[in-house]
Amino acid sequence: MGILVKNISILGATGSIGQNTLDLVLRERDKFNVVGLTGSDNIELLAESAIKLKADVVATANESKFNDLREILKKYQIEVCGGATGVLEVASRQVDWVMSAIVGSAGLLPGLRALETGANLALANKESMVAAGPIMKKIAKMKSAKLMPVDSEHSAIAQLIRGEERDSLSKIIITASGGAFKNLTKAELIDVTPDQAAQHPNWNMGKRITIDSASLFNKALEIIEAKEFFDLKSSDIEVLIHPQSLVHAIASFCDGGMKAHIGPPDMRHAIAYALYEEKRFNLTMPEVNLAEVGTLKFEKPDMSKYPALELGYEVLAQGGLAGAAFNAAKEEALDNFLDRKLSFLGMADVVRATMDELSSKNHLSSEVELEAVIEIDLQARSVAKKFVGKY
Ligand code: NDP
Ligand code: MG
Repeated sequence: MGILVKNISILGATGSIGQNTLDLVLRERDKFNVVGLTGSDNIELLAESAIKLKADVVATANESKFNDLREILKKYQIEVCGGATGVLEVASRQVDWVMSAIVGSAGLLPGLRALETGANLALANKESMVAAGPIMKKIAKMKSAKLMPVDSEHSAIAQLIRGEERDSLSKIIITASGGAFKNLTKAELIDVTPDQAAQHPNWNMGKRITIDSASLFNKALEIIEAKEFFDLKSSDIEVLIHPQSLVHAIASFCDGGMKAHIGPPDMRHAIAYALYEEKRFNLTMPEVNLAEVGTLKFEKPDMSKYPALELGYEVLAQGGLAGAAFNAAKEEALDNFLDRKLSFLGMADVVRATMDELSSKNHLSSEVELEAVIEIDLQARSVAKKFVGKY
Protein backbone atom coordinates (compact mmCIF):
# COMPACT_ATOMS: atom_id res chain seq x y z
CA MET A 1 0.00 0.00 0.00
CA GLY A 2 1.39 3.44 -0.94
CA ILE A 3 1.59 6.26 1.58
CA LEU A 4 -1.43 8.43 2.01
CA VAL A 5 -0.69 11.83 0.47
CA LYS A 6 -2.26 14.81 2.13
CA ASN A 7 -3.35 17.73 -0.07
CA ILE A 8 -2.53 21.01 1.61
CA SER A 9 -2.49 24.76 1.08
CA ILE A 10 -0.60 27.43 2.99
CA LEU A 11 -2.15 30.89 3.31
CA GLY A 12 0.55 33.40 4.24
CA ALA A 13 3.27 31.09 2.90
CA THR A 14 5.89 33.86 2.72
CA GLY A 15 5.66 34.77 6.40
CA SER A 16 7.40 33.42 9.45
CA ILE A 17 4.76 30.74 10.17
CA GLY A 18 4.34 30.02 6.46
CA GLN A 19 8.05 29.39 5.92
CA ASN A 20 8.27 27.21 9.04
CA THR A 21 5.36 25.18 7.67
CA LEU A 22 7.19 24.82 4.36
CA ASP A 23 10.26 23.62 6.22
CA LEU A 24 8.22 20.83 7.83
CA VAL A 25 6.54 19.85 4.56
CA LEU A 26 9.93 19.55 2.86
CA ARG A 27 11.14 17.16 5.57
CA GLU A 28 8.53 14.60 4.50
CA ARG A 29 8.03 15.71 0.95
CA ASP A 30 6.37 12.50 -0.24
CA LYS A 31 3.58 12.79 2.33
CA PHE A 32 2.22 16.08 1.02
CA ASN A 33 0.84 17.45 -2.21
CA VAL A 34 0.93 21.22 -2.11
CA VAL A 35 -2.04 22.70 -3.93
CA GLY A 36 -2.04 26.41 -3.12
CA LEU A 37 0.24 29.05 -1.62
CA THR A 38 -0.50 32.70 -0.93
CA GLY A 39 1.64 35.70 -0.06
CA SER A 40 1.49 39.40 -0.56
CA ASP A 41 4.48 41.70 -1.20
CA ASN A 42 7.27 39.15 -1.23
CA ILE A 43 6.54 37.63 -4.65
CA GLU A 44 10.12 36.42 -5.14
CA LEU A 45 9.85 34.18 -2.08
CA LEU A 46 6.32 33.17 -3.07
CA ALA A 47 7.48 32.10 -6.54
CA GLU A 48 10.54 30.31 -5.15
CA SER A 49 8.38 28.45 -2.60
CA ALA A 50 5.81 27.52 -5.26
CA ILE A 51 8.50 26.11 -7.56
CA LYS A 52 10.20 24.21 -4.74
CA LEU A 53 6.91 22.70 -3.55
CA LYS A 54 5.42 22.24 -7.04
CA ALA A 55 2.25 24.10 -6.08
CA ASP A 56 -0.69 24.13 -8.50
CA VAL A 57 -1.82 27.68 -7.76
CA VAL A 58 -0.43 30.80 -6.08
CA ALA A 59 -1.89 34.17 -5.20
CA THR A 60 -0.37 37.46 -4.21
CA ALA A 61 -2.77 39.55 -2.15
CA ASN A 62 -1.08 42.63 -3.59
CA GLU A 63 -2.86 43.21 -6.90
CA SER A 64 -0.07 45.48 -8.18
CA LYS A 65 2.39 42.57 -7.97
CA PHE A 66 0.23 40.17 -9.96
CA ASN A 67 1.86 40.82 -13.38
CA ASP A 68 5.38 40.53 -11.98
CA LEU A 69 4.51 37.26 -10.26
CA ARG A 70 3.03 35.92 -13.49
CA GLU A 71 6.18 36.94 -15.31
CA ILE A 72 8.47 35.14 -12.81
CA LEU A 73 6.38 31.98 -13.08
CA LYS A 74 5.69 32.02 -16.82
CA LYS A 75 7.88 28.98 -17.52
CA TYR A 76 6.11 26.88 -14.89
CA GLN A 77 2.76 25.24 -14.86
CA ILE A 78 1.56 27.19 -11.88
CA GLU A 79 -1.68 29.14 -12.00
CA VAL A 80 -1.30 32.70 -10.74
CA CYS A 81 -4.01 34.76 -9.03
CA GLY A 82 -3.97 38.28 -7.62
CA GLY A 83 -5.68 40.50 -5.05
CA ALA A 84 -7.88 39.55 -2.12
CA THR A 85 -10.12 37.61 -4.51
CA GLY A 86 -7.08 35.68 -5.72
CA VAL A 87 -6.30 34.68 -2.13
CA LEU A 88 -9.92 33.55 -1.71
CA GLU A 89 -9.64 31.56 -4.94
CA VAL A 90 -6.67 29.64 -3.50
CA ALA A 91 -8.49 29.14 -0.18
CA SER A 92 -11.45 27.70 -2.10
CA ARG A 93 -9.46 24.86 -3.67
CA GLN A 94 -10.42 21.49 -2.25
CA VAL A 95 -7.67 20.15 0.01
CA ASP A 96 -7.42 18.15 3.23
CA TRP A 97 -5.54 20.69 5.33
CA VAL A 98 -4.94 24.44 5.27
CA MET A 99 -2.51 26.56 7.25
CA SER A 100 -4.08 29.95 8.03
CA ALA A 101 -1.02 32.16 8.54
CA ILE A 102 -1.91 35.49 6.97
CA VAL A 103 -1.26 38.30 9.42
CA GLY A 104 -4.13 40.43 10.72
CA SER A 105 -7.81 40.58 9.93
CA ALA A 106 -7.01 39.96 6.23
CA GLY A 107 -6.79 36.30 7.31
CA LEU A 108 -10.45 36.06 8.34
CA LEU A 109 -12.24 35.55 5.01
CA PRO A 110 -9.63 33.17 3.52
CA GLY A 111 -9.69 31.07 6.72
CA LEU A 112 -13.48 30.92 6.67
CA ARG A 113 -13.44 30.02 2.98
CA ALA A 114 -11.06 27.13 3.67
CA LEU A 115 -13.33 25.86 6.47
CA GLU A 116 -16.32 26.12 4.13
CA THR A 117 -14.62 23.64 1.77
CA GLY A 118 -14.46 21.22 4.70
CA ALA A 119 -10.66 21.37 5.03
CA ASN A 120 -9.08 20.97 8.45
CA LEU A 121 -7.72 24.37 9.44
CA ALA A 122 -4.50 24.97 11.35
CA LEU A 123 -5.08 28.43 12.78
CA ALA A 124 -2.08 30.67 13.33
CA ASN A 125 -4.16 33.71 12.41
CA LYS A 126 -5.43 34.38 15.94
CA GLU A 127 -7.08 37.60 14.77
CA SER A 128 -9.84 35.62 13.04
CA MET A 129 -10.64 33.72 16.25
CA VAL A 130 -10.67 36.98 18.24
CA ALA A 131 -12.91 38.76 15.73
CA ALA A 132 -15.18 35.92 14.70
CA GLY A 133 -14.60 32.86 16.89
CA PRO A 134 -18.28 31.83 17.01
CA ILE A 135 -18.50 31.94 13.19
CA MET A 136 -15.30 29.95 12.71
CA LYS A 137 -16.49 27.31 15.18
CA LYS A 138 -19.96 27.12 13.65
CA ILE A 139 -18.64 26.52 10.13
CA ALA A 140 -16.06 24.01 11.34
CA LYS A 141 -18.80 22.09 13.11
CA MET A 142 -21.15 22.25 10.13
CA LYS A 143 -18.45 20.90 7.84
CA SER A 144 -17.00 18.44 10.38
CA ALA A 145 -13.67 20.17 9.86
CA LYS A 146 -11.02 20.32 12.58
CA LEU A 147 -10.05 23.77 13.81
CA MET A 148 -6.60 23.42 15.37
CA PRO A 149 -4.61 26.04 17.25
CA VAL A 150 -1.09 26.87 16.09
CA ASP A 151 -0.37 29.64 18.56
CA SER A 152 2.18 28.02 20.89
CA GLU A 153 0.19 28.59 24.10
CA HIS A 154 -3.02 27.26 22.59
CA SER A 155 -1.34 24.27 21.02
CA ALA A 156 0.13 23.63 24.47
CA ILE A 157 -3.32 23.82 26.11
CA ALA A 158 -4.79 21.46 23.50
CA GLN A 159 -2.00 19.01 24.29
CA LEU A 160 -2.46 19.43 28.06
CA ILE A 161 -6.19 18.80 28.16
CA ARG A 162 -6.21 15.94 25.69
CA GLY A 163 -7.60 12.86 27.37
CA GLU A 164 -8.86 14.84 30.37
CA GLU A 165 -12.52 15.26 31.24
CA ARG A 166 -13.50 18.79 30.26
CA ASP A 167 -15.25 19.40 33.61
CA SER A 168 -12.10 18.62 35.55
CA LEU A 169 -10.25 21.61 34.10
CA SER A 170 -10.41 24.49 36.55
CA LYS A 171 -8.06 27.05 35.06
CA ILE A 172 -5.46 27.62 32.41
CA ILE A 173 -2.36 29.77 32.64
CA ILE A 174 -0.74 31.14 29.53
CA THR A 175 2.69 32.65 29.70
CA ALA A 176 4.09 35.84 28.20
CA SER A 177 7.78 36.53 27.78
CA GLY A 178 7.26 40.25 28.32
CA GLY A 179 8.77 40.93 24.89
CA ALA A 180 11.43 43.49 24.07
CA PHE A 181 10.78 45.76 27.04
CA LYS A 182 10.32 43.33 29.88
CA ASN A 183 13.05 45.04 31.91
CA LEU A 184 11.89 48.62 31.31
CA THR A 185 9.65 50.61 33.62
CA LYS A 186 6.48 52.25 32.34
CA ALA A 187 8.23 55.64 32.33
CA GLU A 188 10.99 54.22 30.15
CA LEU A 189 8.44 53.06 27.59
CA ILE A 190 7.45 56.59 26.63
CA ASP A 191 10.07 57.05 23.90
CA VAL A 192 10.62 53.54 22.59
CA THR A 193 10.68 53.12 18.80
CA PRO A 194 9.16 50.51 16.45
CA ASP A 195 12.62 49.09 15.71
CA GLN A 196 13.28 48.58 19.42
CA ALA A 197 9.86 46.98 19.92
CA ALA A 198 10.46 44.61 16.98
CA GLN A 199 13.30 42.77 18.78
CA HIS A 200 12.06 39.68 20.57
CA PRO A 201 14.31 38.14 23.21
CA ASN A 202 13.23 34.51 22.59
CA TRP A 203 11.03 34.03 19.54
CA ASN A 204 11.70 34.75 15.90
CA MET A 205 8.37 35.95 14.47
CA GLY A 206 6.83 38.44 12.05
CA LYS A 207 7.23 42.13 12.89
CA ARG A 208 3.66 42.87 13.93
CA ILE A 209 3.29 40.03 16.42
CA THR A 210 6.74 40.84 17.83
CA ILE A 211 5.66 44.40 18.60
CA ASP A 212 2.36 43.10 19.98
CA SER A 213 4.42 40.88 22.28
CA ALA A 214 6.21 43.92 23.71
CA SER A 215 2.94 45.76 24.41
CA LEU A 216 1.16 42.55 25.51
CA PHE A 217 -1.55 43.23 22.92
CA ASN A 218 -0.56 39.81 21.67
CA LYS A 219 -1.39 38.29 25.06
CA ALA A 220 -4.66 40.24 25.11
CA LEU A 221 -5.58 38.65 21.78
CA GLU A 222 -4.48 35.27 23.12
CA ILE A 223 -6.74 35.26 26.18
CA ILE A 224 -9.68 35.92 23.86
CA GLU A 225 -8.39 33.23 21.49
CA ALA A 226 -8.19 30.83 24.46
CA LYS A 227 -11.77 31.61 25.47
CA GLU A 228 -12.95 30.81 21.93
CA PHE A 229 -10.89 27.67 21.45
CA PHE A 230 -11.58 26.12 24.84
CA ASP A 231 -14.88 27.73 25.92
CA LEU A 232 -13.41 29.40 28.99
CA LYS A 233 -14.54 32.32 31.13
CA SER A 234 -12.38 35.31 31.93
CA SER A 235 -11.78 34.05 35.49
CA ASP A 236 -10.51 30.71 34.11
CA ILE A 237 -7.63 32.32 32.23
CA GLU A 238 -4.54 33.66 33.92
CA VAL A 239 -1.49 35.27 32.35
CA LEU A 240 1.93 35.03 33.94
CA ILE A 241 5.13 36.67 32.79
CA HIS A 242 7.69 33.94 32.18
CA PRO A 243 10.76 35.55 30.60
CA GLN A 244 12.37 32.25 29.61
CA SER A 245 9.57 31.22 27.19
CA LEU A 246 10.01 27.54 28.03
CA VAL A 247 6.69 26.85 29.75
CA HIS A 248 4.04 27.80 27.19
CA ALA A 249 0.90 26.99 29.15
CA ILE A 250 -0.27 25.29 32.33
CA ALA A 251 -3.58 23.53 32.93
CA SER A 252 -4.97 23.33 36.48
CA PHE A 253 -7.38 20.56 37.39
CA CYS A 254 -10.04 20.27 40.06
CA ASP A 255 -7.95 17.83 42.15
CA GLY A 256 -5.14 20.36 42.60
CA GLY A 257 -2.97 18.82 39.91
CA MET A 258 -1.32 21.03 37.33
CA LYS A 259 0.24 20.07 34.01
CA ALA A 260 2.76 22.32 32.31
CA HIS A 261 3.79 22.22 28.68
CA ILE A 262 7.53 22.80 28.31
CA GLY A 263 9.44 23.11 25.07
CA PRO A 264 11.98 25.24 23.23
CA PRO A 265 10.60 28.46 21.77
CA ASP A 266 10.32 27.15 18.22
CA MET A 267 7.02 27.39 16.35
CA ARG A 268 7.73 24.22 14.39
CA HIS A 269 6.62 22.22 17.43
CA ALA A 270 3.09 23.65 17.37
CA ILE A 271 2.93 23.72 13.56
CA ALA A 272 3.93 20.05 13.35
CA TYR A 273 1.34 19.09 15.97
CA ALA A 274 -1.32 20.69 13.75
CA LEU A 275 0.16 19.44 10.47
CA TYR A 276 0.12 15.86 11.68
CA GLU A 277 -3.27 16.43 13.31
CA GLU A 278 -2.35 15.74 16.91
CA LYS A 279 0.19 13.05 16.22
CA ARG A 280 3.77 13.67 17.24
CA PHE A 281 6.41 14.13 14.58
CA ASN A 282 10.09 13.48 15.23
CA LEU A 283 11.39 17.03 14.96
CA THR A 284 14.85 16.22 16.37
CA MET A 285 14.87 19.46 18.33
CA PRO A 286 17.35 20.05 21.09
CA GLU A 287 15.44 19.32 24.26
CA VAL A 288 15.23 21.84 27.07
CA ASN A 289 18.00 21.06 29.55
CA LEU A 290 16.18 21.68 32.82
CA ALA A 291 19.26 21.17 34.98
CA GLU A 292 21.00 23.90 33.02
CA VAL A 293 17.93 26.14 33.21
CA GLY A 294 17.90 25.56 36.97
CA THR A 295 15.00 27.83 37.88
CA LEU A 296 11.80 28.60 36.03
CA LYS A 297 10.65 32.14 36.73
CA PHE A 298 7.06 33.37 36.81
CA GLU A 299 5.54 36.65 37.90
CA LYS A 300 2.22 38.43 37.73
CA PRO A 301 2.04 41.05 34.97
CA ASP A 302 1.98 44.65 36.14
CA MET A 303 -1.35 45.80 34.69
CA SER A 304 -0.36 49.46 34.91
CA LYS A 305 2.64 48.78 32.67
CA TYR A 306 0.56 46.67 30.29
CA PRO A 307 -2.81 48.42 29.80
CA ALA A 308 -3.37 46.33 26.67
CA LEU A 309 -3.74 43.21 28.78
CA GLU A 310 -6.26 44.84 31.08
CA LEU A 311 -8.23 45.89 28.00
CA GLY A 312 -8.05 42.34 26.70
CA TYR A 313 -9.75 41.04 29.85
CA GLU A 314 -12.51 43.63 29.48
CA VAL A 315 -13.07 42.65 25.85
CA LEU A 316 -13.13 38.98 26.79
CA ALA A 317 -15.85 39.63 29.37
CA GLN A 318 -17.81 41.87 27.01
CA GLY A 319 -18.08 39.31 24.18
CA GLY A 320 -20.23 40.03 21.11
CA LEU A 321 -18.47 42.23 18.59
CA ALA A 322 -15.97 43.59 21.12
CA GLY A 323 -13.24 41.19 19.92
CA ALA A 324 -13.59 42.31 16.30
CA ALA A 325 -13.54 45.99 17.28
CA PHE A 326 -10.60 45.49 19.63
CA ASN A 327 -8.53 43.72 17.01
CA ALA A 328 -9.26 46.30 14.33
CA ALA A 329 -8.52 49.25 16.64
CA LYS A 330 -5.28 47.53 17.67
CA GLU A 331 -4.27 47.03 14.03
CA GLU A 332 -4.94 50.69 13.28
CA ALA A 333 -2.98 51.80 16.36
CA LEU A 334 -0.08 49.53 15.40
CA ASP A 335 -0.01 50.92 11.84
CA ASN A 336 0.25 54.40 13.32
CA PHE A 337 2.97 53.38 15.76
CA LEU A 338 4.93 51.87 12.84
CA ASP A 339 4.48 55.17 10.94
CA ARG A 340 5.74 57.06 14.02
CA LYS A 341 2.42 58.91 14.32
CA LEU A 342 1.61 57.35 17.68
CA SER A 343 3.77 56.46 20.67
CA PHE A 344 4.15 52.93 22.03
CA LEU A 345 1.96 53.66 25.06
CA GLY A 346 -0.41 55.69 22.89
CA MET A 347 -1.53 52.47 21.20
CA ALA A 348 -3.44 51.29 24.28
CA ASP A 349 -4.87 54.79 24.81
CA VAL A 350 -6.24 54.85 21.28
CA VAL A 351 -7.70 51.35 21.56
CA ARG A 352 -9.31 52.16 24.92
CA ALA A 353 -10.84 55.39 23.61
CA THR A 354 -12.14 53.52 20.56
CA MET A 355 -13.69 50.75 22.64
CA ASP A 356 -15.26 53.26 25.03
CA GLU A 357 -16.82 55.19 22.18
CA LEU A 358 -18.16 52.10 20.45
CA SER A 359 -19.52 50.66 23.72
CA SER A 360 -21.18 53.89 24.74
CA LYS A 361 -23.04 53.90 21.42
CA ASN A 362 -24.01 50.30 22.04
CA HIS A 363 -22.33 49.12 18.85
CA LEU A 364 -20.69 46.04 20.34
CA SER A 365 -23.54 43.99 21.70
CA SER A 366 -24.90 42.56 18.42
CA GLU A 367 -24.67 38.91 17.41
CA VAL A 368 -21.37 37.84 15.89
CA GLU A 369 -22.50 37.57 12.25
CA LEU A 370 -20.04 38.03 9.41
CA GLU A 371 -21.51 41.25 8.04
CA ALA A 372 -21.56 42.81 11.50
CA VAL A 373 -17.94 41.75 12.11
CA ILE A 374 -16.81 43.37 8.86
CA GLU A 375 -18.79 46.51 9.59
CA ILE A 376 -17.50 46.93 13.15
CA ASP A 377 -13.95 46.31 11.91
CA LEU A 378 -14.23 49.26 9.53
CA GLN A 379 -15.96 51.41 12.11
CA ALA A 380 -13.34 50.69 14.79
CA ARG A 381 -10.54 51.62 12.38
CA SER A 382 -12.18 54.92 11.55
CA VAL A 383 -12.86 55.77 15.22
CA ALA A 384 -9.28 54.79 16.14
CA LYS A 385 -7.92 57.04 13.36
CA LYS A 386 -9.78 59.95 14.91
CA PHE A 387 -8.08 59.37 18.27
CA VAL A 388 -4.55 58.94 16.90
CA GLY A 389 -3.86 62.68 16.80
CA LYS A 390 -5.04 63.05 20.41
CA TYR A 391 -2.43 60.78 22.03
P1 NDP B 1 4.48 37.55 8.90
O1 NDP B 1 4.37 39.03 8.86
O2 NDP B 1 5.82 36.94 8.98
O3 NDP B 1 3.74 36.94 7.60
C1 NDP B 1 2.47 37.36 7.24
C2 NDP B 1 1.99 36.68 5.98
O4 NDP B 1 0.77 37.28 5.55
C3 NDP B 1 2.94 36.84 4.80
O5 NDP B 1 2.81 35.73 3.95
C4 NDP B 1 2.40 38.09 4.11
O6 NDP B 1 2.83 38.22 2.76
C5 NDP B 1 0.92 37.84 4.23
N1 NDP B 1 0.11 39.05 4.16
C6 NDP B 1 0.39 40.27 4.66
N2 NDP B 1 -0.64 41.11 4.43
C7 NDP B 1 -1.58 40.41 3.76
C8 NDP B 1 -2.86 40.71 3.22
N3 NDP B 1 -3.40 41.94 3.33
N4 NDP B 1 -3.57 39.74 2.61
C9 NDP B 1 -3.06 38.50 2.47
N5 NDP B 1 -1.83 38.14 2.94
C10 NDP B 1 -1.11 39.08 3.58
O7 NDP B 1 3.56 37.05 10.08
P2 NDP B 1 3.73 35.78 11.03
O8 NDP B 1 4.04 34.57 10.21
O9 NDP B 1 4.57 36.13 12.18
O10 NDP B 1 2.25 35.64 11.60
C11 NDP B 1 1.18 35.09 10.84
C12 NDP B 1 0.00 34.86 11.76
O11 NDP B 1 0.37 33.88 12.72
C13 NDP B 1 -0.41 36.09 12.57
O12 NDP B 1 -1.79 36.07 12.75
C14 NDP B 1 0.29 35.91 13.91
O13 NDP B 1 -0.39 36.54 14.97
C15 NDP B 1 0.23 34.38 14.04
N6 NDP B 1 1.25 33.82 14.89
C16 NDP B 1 2.57 33.93 14.54
C17 NDP B 1 3.56 33.38 15.34
C18 NDP B 1 5.00 33.43 14.90
O14 NDP B 1 5.82 32.78 15.52
N7 NDP B 1 5.36 34.14 13.86
C19 NDP B 1 3.25 32.73 16.60
C20 NDP B 1 1.83 32.64 16.88
C21 NDP B 1 0.88 33.17 16.05
P3 NDP B 1 4.21 39.01 2.33
O15 NDP B 1 5.21 38.73 3.40
O16 NDP B 1 4.54 38.34 1.02
O17 NDP B 1 3.87 40.44 2.20
MG1 MG C 1 1.46 32.87 21.22
